[in-house]
Amino acid sequence: MIRSSVLISGDPISLSRGAEETKLAIEAELAFYGLEDEVQVGYTGRVSRTDVVPVVVVYPDETVYGPVSADDAAELVEEHLYKGRVVEHLRVAQEVASAEIDTLDPEGATLYGQKRVVLNRAGRIDPYSVDDYIAYDGYFALGQALAEMTPDEVLEEVKASNLQGRGGAGFPTGLKWTFVAQQPETTRYIVCNADESEPGTFKDRLIIEGDPHAVLEGMALAGYAVGASEGWIYIRGEYAMAKDILNHAIEAAERLNLLGDNILGSDFSFHIHVHAGAGAYICGEETALLNSLEGKRGSPRIRPPYPTVRGFRDKPTVVNNVETLANVPPIVLHGADWFRAIGTERSPGTKVYTMLGDVNLTGLVEAPMGTTLREIIDIYGGGIKGGKAFKAAQTGGSAGTIIPADLLDVPMDFASMREHGAGLGSGALLICDENTDIVDLAYVLIRFFRTESCGKCTPCRVGNVQMLESLERLRKGMARRSDLERLEEIATYVESASFCGLGQAAPVPILTGLRYFRDEFESRVRD
Ligand code: SF4
Repeated sequence: MIRSSVLISGDPISLSRGAEETKLAIEAELAFYGLEDEVQVGYTGRVSRTDVVPVVVVYPDETVYGPVSADDAAELVEEHLYKGRVVEHLRVAQEVASAEIDTLDPEGATLYGQKRVVLNRAGRIDPYSVDDYIAYDGYFALGQALAEMTPDEVLEEVKASNLQGRGGAGFPTGLKWTFVAQQPETTRYIVCNADESEPGTFKDRLIIEGDPHAVLEGMALAGYAVGASEGWIYIRGEYAMAKDILNHAIEAAERLNLLGDNILGSDFSFHIHVHAGAGAYICGEETALLNSLEGKRGSPRIRPPYPTVRGFRDKPTVVNNVETLANVPPIVLHGADWFRAIGTERSPGTKVYTMLGDVNLTGLVEAPMGTTLREIIDIYGGGIKGGKAFKAAQTGGSAGTIIPADLLDVPMDFASMREHGAGLGSGALLICDENTDIVDLAYVLIRFFRTESCGKCTPCRVGNVQMLESLERLRKGMARRSDLERLEEIATYVESASFCGLGQAAPVPILTGLRYFRDEFESRVRD
């Protein structure tokens, strides 16, 4: 009889740091103690921080160890699994006191000190096991919807939850679904945008690697609500493991009739396909993604018509990102009121962040909407590295806003951030200490956009090159005042005149850098 489970983080970073060797060593030690029939060993998604992988979580007590090497296996098995004693020196300190975090759920998903909705199962289940997913209420929402709810009722529940798209814009998900459901065209599609392509942003990959069925179930619920019978996941080509996990999950769900024809004996059929992109950043823009999915060059389309009217194969299409879709099953299962009790009134729910830079603890964080950046840095990030002072943070990925210490206490939700001229974007948080050079930071970011501009429109194609040249002159101390004025002028122009979101967002780090740290740019001017 199985009395305990040992799950080892099996994401690419953990594997590169010896997770497989750790797993094999634990299995060998279990065999030595004759425990192989009592303790189950498997992989799980990334639990949280980057610095402690590979992580080993022992259930049912949910003790988190890390980093655990193959050499630690003997002690871990003998002490914890044979003698029942926690190995304190290997244990990951529970950096977050539960009392410091708002209660999200009476049941309390508290793994690793974070109350989680989207990542509730990440670190608890084997992503290759549909049984594990079902054991944690997986596919219950879909079963409940098919047995007890009409498509309209599912749509109304999502609308009432006020779930906002987690891809960056924060557009109300229920409203987007309504636009598609109202179209006279009856062939409709659900497209999951998993083309995460900017430096520092990898939350969608970790959601897929930790809990792939949550995304599939979210897509099936979206399909049921809007009357679509086919879904596509457009995933970044480099995400080989995530792609494999998704394909495996689709096969497993189809075997159990949780996807495919006449799901669970109902009239609803839903098929999901996975398509890997070829690595262009622009393909994260939804219309470029649709072009690419159709086998065309990945460049943006004119809008309107919006994808909700003419999307994939010119049919009405819901395009939602991974995190948005992973929020749908718990909303349908627990209800809109449950969801709205989390986060803020204007932005309910949680937000998944990837935190990088000058903090003690980098990695994956899920926090209620409205948590301030100060709380995220101090509570989840363990403060600024080396006891240095905070200088700035870039919120929302490479095209995100650079914000100063004055905004550390702004609640991080779509509305509040927008009111302060900032955004949540892709959920990446780059934390910079007092030694960070803002001009250098802007230069590195614009270099990325110069490379990734698809070239379709002049403001973005030429503007990014010119902004990069101006920044280069500033960095080398060769810029005159007119160069700085020109940099600001071009950035403003690129923001307002570019064809798509990529070009419109590319100058944001420069413009916000100039707004809050102008003296640093000025100090580089050669008078
Ligand atoms: Fe292409 Fe940039 Fe224009 Fe978008 S803004 S269409 S990425 S050139």
